[in-house]
Order: sequence, then structure tokens, then C-alpha cells
Amino acid sequence: MIYKPRTKPRELEVYHLLNSRKNLLDNERKHLYALQKGYEGELLFDNLTSSVITSECLILNDLLLPHNKNTFQIDSLIIAPETIYIIEVKNFEGDYFYEQDRLYTRVPPHSEVTNPLIQLNRSESLCRQLLQQLGSDMTIQSFVVFVNPEFTLYQAPINKQIVYPGQINRFLKSIHTSSLKLDNNLYVLADKLKSLHNPNAPFYFPPSYQYDELQKGVPCSYCDSLEFTTKGAYCYCLVCSKKETMEKRILQIVHHFTMLFPEMKITTNAIFDWGNRKLSKRAIRRVLQKHLNTKGVHQWSYYEF
Ligand SMILES: [Zn+2]
Repeated sequence: MIYKPRTKPRELEVYHLLNSRKNLLDNERKHLYALQKGYEGELLFDNLTSSVITSECLILNDLLLPHNKNTFQIDSLIIAPETIYIIEVKNFEGDYFYEQDRLYTRVPPHSEVTNPLIQLNRSESLCRQLLQQLGSDMTIQSFVVFVNPEFTLYQAPINKQIVYPGQINRFLKSIHTSSLKLDNNLYVLADKLKSLHNPNAPFYFPPSYQYDELQKGVPCSYCDSLEFTTKGAYCYCLVCSKKETMEKRILQIVHHFTMLFPEMKITTNAIFDWGNRKLSKRAIRRVLQKHLNTKGVHQWSYYEF
């Protein structure tokens, strides 16, 4: 059972927002593509796990856990009655080869890519220490799962913790053969891990951007277009014609604003400007007062979630 669902990673969200509001550099666009592909791979893996693993297991997706001033990330952690599985999901596509613990693309110029087993071993080691600290001595097994059916790895040693696309089903079935039940301690452990998850851990370096260089506006939720008209409490997209409440659109740009500028104060004027001065300050103030907490008074008031 999914005990902690996956959400879109913050880094990907930030890159998406920036992509629609400024021209990304070439390397930033490539990074966005890699993030998007990675996320799609994880969703694919989630689909497989939820259809194959039906027995007693707790699945915690997308954990960012602290240990001794380090933060480590786990794509999927599966708590089964006798074993804890750490899964690193990779959505690599194409042909690669393995040589002296390094991974290269088969196509010249044979660029080296980061060996996911190295990351996996680091996560496993930190996770083992953390679990010991939490009083658990469960057996841990960790695997890199390559989910893309178009992936081939040449010269890979047979004893590595790798699961290939054609083996995923068997691998997942092997997890749930046990007829044992999860005891209560494992639920307690899962809750502890969930509470330690820190989505705001400084785990990535966003591209540099300034408020002034970003395009302002109130994008449509369906097509991202900034062109719309308003009628009563509704916005009508001029590109895809979809209708949304103004309230929803205002809340959405407030979320984007806090995601991109967590250090800036949310005020009626700030959101008015962020929306390219297209929505009335009265409507903005009403939504902020309804959904956020008001701080300060009069012209100095601002809002917090
Ligand atoms: Zn639209």
C-alpha cells in the first residue's frame, strides 16, 4: 500500500515555472528535460508497484531524509515484513556500457554518466545509519531499477544490484511472496520516516533568476496562456477557451510566487504586479484574506500560508 505518495519534485516545479516565464539557457533546458524524464520514470515505476504489490508492504515514495548534516534522497522505500528495499529509479533510454564501475553512452563520444549505483550505495549507507538510530535492525536491500524498455546496458557485472526493464515484474513479485504480516513496529517506523521527510531540504541548486526578468501574468491552468478576459467571478482563456474561477487563478499565481520567491512577502500589491496588473486588487485582497493568514495591519499587512 502507498504509505507516502509521490508529489512533483520542487526542483522540477521551479524549472517548469521558469520555463514558462523566461528563456532558459541551453543547459537549463536540458536539465529540465532530464528532471521531467526522471519524474516520468518514477511515475511509471509507481504504476507497476501498485499493480503488482498487493500484499502487506508499506511504500514510501520520494523521501528526502536528514542524517548527520547530510540529506539523502530515496525514490521508493518499500517496507516488507522482513526486509526494507531501497529503490533508485532510472529512466535512461538507449545503449550504455559499463566499464570499471563507470557508465558510458554507447554512441560516440561515449560520454560518462553518473553511475546510479554510487548514489544508491550512499543512500543505503546513510539509511542504514538512520534506521539504527531509530532502533531498527531490519535487513536492507537496495536496487537500481531501469524502467525504460528502450534501455540496454552492455558489460554490466552480473552481481550488481540492478533490475532491468524485463525483470521488474519478477522483481516486484519476489518482494511480496512472504506470507508474514507487518507488525506494528513497522508502521511506527514508517511514520517516523514520514515525519523526518523534509521537502524543503536544500538538495538542489536552482538556476539564478531575478524577479524583474520573469514575465508577469496569470497563466491558464490548462494551456499556460496569459491571454484571458474576465466576466463576473470567472476568467476565460482566449487560447483554449476554458473557464476557471478567478479565485483559483489568483491562488495559483500566489503559489507560483511563493515557490519562486519564498523570501518575498505576499501582499496585495505584490500579487497585483506578479499578475501583470490584470486582476483587480479588490479580488486579490479578498482571495488572500480568505485563504491565507493576515499579518500586520493596514497598509503594512501581508499574508502567509
Ligand atoms: Zn487556456
